[in-house]
Amino acid sequence: LRGRNQVAQSRGRRAQDGSRRGLDRELSADLRNAAREGQLRLHVQPIVVLGDLADAVALAVDGPTDSSAVPVLAGEYEALLRWEHPRLGLLAPGAFLPLAEETGSIVELDLWVVRAACALLGAHPSLVGLSLNTSAHTLCDPRWVGAVREALAEEQVEPSRLWIEVVESRSLADLPGVAQRLQALRRMGVRIALDDFGTGFSTLSWLQRLPVDRLKLDRSVTVDITSDAKALAVAQGVLDLAERLGVDVVAEGVETSAQRSALRAAGFRLAQGYLWGRPAPLAGTDEGAHRPSVPEPPRPEDGWVW
Ligand code: C2E
Ligand code: MG
Ligand code: MG
Ligand code: MG
Repeated sequence: LRGRNQVAQSRGRRAQDGSRRGLDRELSADLRNAAREGQLRLHVQPIVVLGDLADAVALAVDGPTDSSAVPVLAGEYEALLRWEHPRLGLLAPGAFLPLAEETGSIVELDLWVVRAACALLGAHPSLVGLSLNTSAHTLCDPRWVGAVREALAEEQVEPSRLWIEVVESRSLADLPGVAQRLQALRRMGVRIALDDFGTGFSTLSWLQRLPVDRLKLDRSVTVDITSDAKALAVAQGVLDLAERLGVDVVAEGVETSAQRSALRAAGFRLAQGYLWGRPAPLAGTDEGAHRPSVPEPPRPEDGWVW
């Protein structure tokens, strides 16, 4: 009986793997067309200054379900990619980034994000800063720095309003051209943040070798900050390191006011998390605002057309 069960189980697994591969094939074909088909969206999540204002906003957003109701702070945001799949609906990166990394189509997505982010900055002068995420593939792509420069110029955006978030990995800093590309962007005035800080391998040597303006303390540390003295010690250590390096720190993934209070008490000034708002389209934009605009053909009933 046990043998038969195992056979059935492994058959089931094979069928599952087969259909997953089928789904992956389908998704990766769809993904190649996503930008062209206008299916990509930029959602944003506010970065807040810990203080009375942040407390007030946390109260105010305690409940809006309409994503467009997320308040626009005159501040900074992180841009997070979403894919409006025609059949599967709105997908978060977890559903398609691994595939995009595997097939290399992540570079096209990241380049779309660069243009969309600059378009948002251009359209919203009150936006102090917008940060975008970048994959290792993109950091290695020779088109990338030029694409950033062109998008900034086209939208006439002051480069210091754009932040690039980079996730460290053991090999990244050694890949040819990565450090030079980040340095070229920084000379342009673009700012660099180390994302998911506290989870990687070579964090400290990165700080010596790459130009960095900000550390983003990983959510895995924030989550334990009220319950685990070691997490608090790590957070304090990161803060101390940042101060000595003269860079700022954003604590990611803040969900509770207890976490906010603990971070504030530890000396954190900047934070981000569901407590203040989930990623959503920037208020005051319609979903399509960052897509290339195609002029409407004139209609006779508009009066001024004859
Ligand atoms: P990340 O850059 O570390 O972004 C933070 C992630 O945590 C986002 O997930 C965000 O929605 C989520 N988050 C924010 N606050 C909270 C919180 O309080 N609690 C919890 N549980 N989660 C919170 P998201 O949007 O699903 O993105 C996941 C990852 O995908 C990002 O992690 C980033 O590494 C990657 N990503 C997103 N957009 C892009 C992009 O345009 N290009 C590339 N290459 N990667 C992207
Ligand atoms: Mg990020
Ligand atoms: Mg992060
Ligand atoms: Mg992450």
